Amino acid sequence: MIRVGVNGYGTIGKRVADAVEAQPDMELVGIAKTRPNYEADAALRRGYSLYAAIADRAGDFTDAGIEIAGTLPDMLEEIDVVVDCCPSGVGAENRETYAEHDVRAVFQGGEGASVADASFNSRANFEASRDAEFVRVVSCNTTGLSRVIAPLQEQYGIEKVRATLVRRGGDPAQTGRGPINDVLPDPVTIPSHHGPDVNTVLPDVAVDTLGLTVPTTQMHTHSLNVTLESEPDTEEVRALLADQDRTFLIPEIAAIDGAGKLKEFARDIGRPRGDVWENCIWAESINVTGRDLYLFQNVHQEADVVPENVDAIRSMCTDLSPAESIARTNETLGIGLESRFDTDEGDWKPVTADD
Ligand code: NAD
Repeated sequence: MIRVGVNGYGTIGKRVADAVEAQPDMELVGIAKTRPNYEADAALRRGYSLYAAIADRAGDFTDAGIEIAGTLPDMLEEIDVVVDCCPSGVGAENRETYAEHDVRAVFQGGEGASVADASFNSRANFEASRDAEFVRVVSCNTTGLSRVIAPLQEQYGIEKVRATLVRRGGDPAQTGRGPINDVLPDPVTIPSHHGPDVNTVLPDVAVDTLGLTVPTTQMHTHSLNVTLESEPDTEEVRALLADQDRTFLIPEIAAIDGAGKLKEFARDIGRPRGDVWENCIWAESINVTGRDLYLFQNVHQEADVVPENVDAIRSMCTDLSPAESIARTNETLGIGLESRFDTDEGDWKPVTADD
């Protein structure tokens, strides 16, 4: 059993904790939190042991009537791996504490790549983190890009990836984030930092990205143009992308026209918190013209990195193969959305631009 603790119990931390709890080869020892808020209440209801992330604030928990199992150092004494899900930059500050306690650590994409021995994506470079002490799971956008780029690179070779990322303004619980009514080039400098981040897990791919931020909390939308080194036909690429472990090709007949219906679908089929772990690629959008592939995909920023964290733990602590780990994670969490429709999408039909 791999003994795991989660430090930082926000958007990502709570989901990683649940995912770890579901693994047959992992034990969730506890979670560390800074304050006794509604998320602490929810963690207790789930039966998780709570630790005070900041020792000075331990009294806040007891004052609120919440029993804690100790403070962060106590949790670190009990575990093999900590998954740091603190806000960007806090993970790097925590690194030394983890090293002092001789605990391996998985960091998140908000940290710089130098925080860890390796950056991680299950599909792109699982083996690079084998036995590592410190690993960083790349961001939600980078995870979404890497899952598509890796198979395309393996199958066809890639001359150049150009990706436009339409980024959600904040997560549903992040009431202080925006924009409220605007579209921001973000970052305004081009190319954005996402391309170099993809190169932390796929170093040989030429990839330029640019970003915009819009007023939604639902998902990110990616518009991709990949110039391949060969000329597959559209159906072949569709089949390749459909065949990946963590992709969902949205069939035309499903009438899912955006993030709202995608999230509604996830809730309708009983996904916890309406989470969508898979890259959702519109089947109709996949189009190859010469060597140029185009597609639209959505990634759920709160969810897509969660299975990657589970696999990262296995890459560090076990000798399980990437395929075995991915299969186990997918099976335990219920990942692998496939349409129940028997679809034949037919030819791509261009429509007239009218706005
Ligand atoms: P969040 O703000 O939702 O959660 C962070 C939690 O850590 C909060 O509960 C906060 O109170 C707590 N915290 C603050 N300081 C702490 C400390 N010193 N010790 C312990 N806990 C502390 O943030 P998040 O969205 O879950 O992001 C966490 C990391 O995951 C960041 O690196 C982020 O870039 C990355 N990430 C976020 C998303 C996303 O869309 N939310 C997606 C992928 C990766």
